[in-house]
Amino acid sequence: DSIQVSVLGLGAMGSALAGALVKTGYATTVWNRSPGKADDLVAQGAKVAATAGDAVRAGQLVIVCLLDHASVHEVLDPLSNELAGRTLINVTTTSPAQSRELAAWVAHAGGAYLDGGIMAVPHMIGRPEASILYSGSADVFHQYKPLLDLWGTSTYFGEDAGLASLYDLALLAGMYVMFAGFLHGAAMVAPAGVTAGEFATMATPWLTAMTGAFQGFAAVIDGGDYTVEGQQSLEFSDLGDLLAASSAQGISTEVVAMVQRLIQRQIDAGHGEEGFARIIESIKQAT
Ligand code: NDP
Repeated sequence: DSIQVSVLGLGAMGSALAGALVKTGYATTVWNRSPGKADDLVAQGAKVAATAGDAVRAGQLVIVCLLDHASVHEVLDPLSNELAGRTLINVTTTSPAQSRELAAWVAHAGGAYLDGGIMAVPHMIGRPEASILYSGSADVFHQYKPLLDLWGTSTYFGEDAGLASLYDLALLAGMYVMFAGFLHGAAMVAPAGVTAGEFATMATPWLTAMTGAFQGFAAVIDGGDYTVEGQQSLEFSDLGDLLAASSAQGISTEVVAMVQRLIQRQIDAGHGEEGFARIIESIKQAT
């Protein structure tokens, strides 16, 4: 491809992204704040720029993979005059608000902006299991899709540059609460002499199978009717036994008590016979 690409930031992730481009034969210029990190890429055919300005000027497409929002501004603020007519794809982790701010800032400088959220670790880059979420300019996403697909599976969510980050954080929220659930279970059986490894052997297939419930919950929620037949009711979902057994093991009950409170709020509001998915109504309402 004749397109000139520049990559700013050669940390663990930036190096992996740049490596995939160089390997495929894209004309790639790389830059990193501290020297030495480009050596491997240069050996594979990348050019190294002495300054971030040189790198930006060398690329129609500029990929940014720095530490955080502040470092992106630190590097790009002095270069705002160079951005007109260029395209920026920023895969640095930023909050939804920070992504929107950067999109507006780049637009003001006359550039096009696509925000990316990477759901992968560096060694996964280049494989379909690496999921990268995008939002911002649809034109940029579609024009550069073949390049983005070199990194993993690319999914586009819409013109609001904050959406990819919001999605990223929502997926992480689900992950952390699931992790806490697993660890609570491991803590419950630990006093009985069960190792965490033994518990994990049982929990992995169980929790994997339980993810099959997501689409059923989603159908109820999207259908807007929590009374549809065939659901486990909130009253049936009393977690009292789980709380009592946790207490009897001498462990904290807070992970399970959190879910019990979400259930109880709906029961108290008179929805006890409706389906478990209804606890999303407890979550949707900030208390
Ligand atoms: P690293 O810590 O390996 O690299 C950070 C990079 O940012 C380095 O190139 C560093 O330059 C540069 N940097 C930091 N501060 C500044 C600054 N003020 N000015 C210029 N350059 C700066 O991080 P990763 O490569 O792992 O992560 C990069 C981004 O990718 C982050 O936003 C991270 O959240 C995201 N990400 C990373 C994942 C991972 O598993 N690694 C997973 C998903 C997202 P220098 O070498 O000079 O210090």
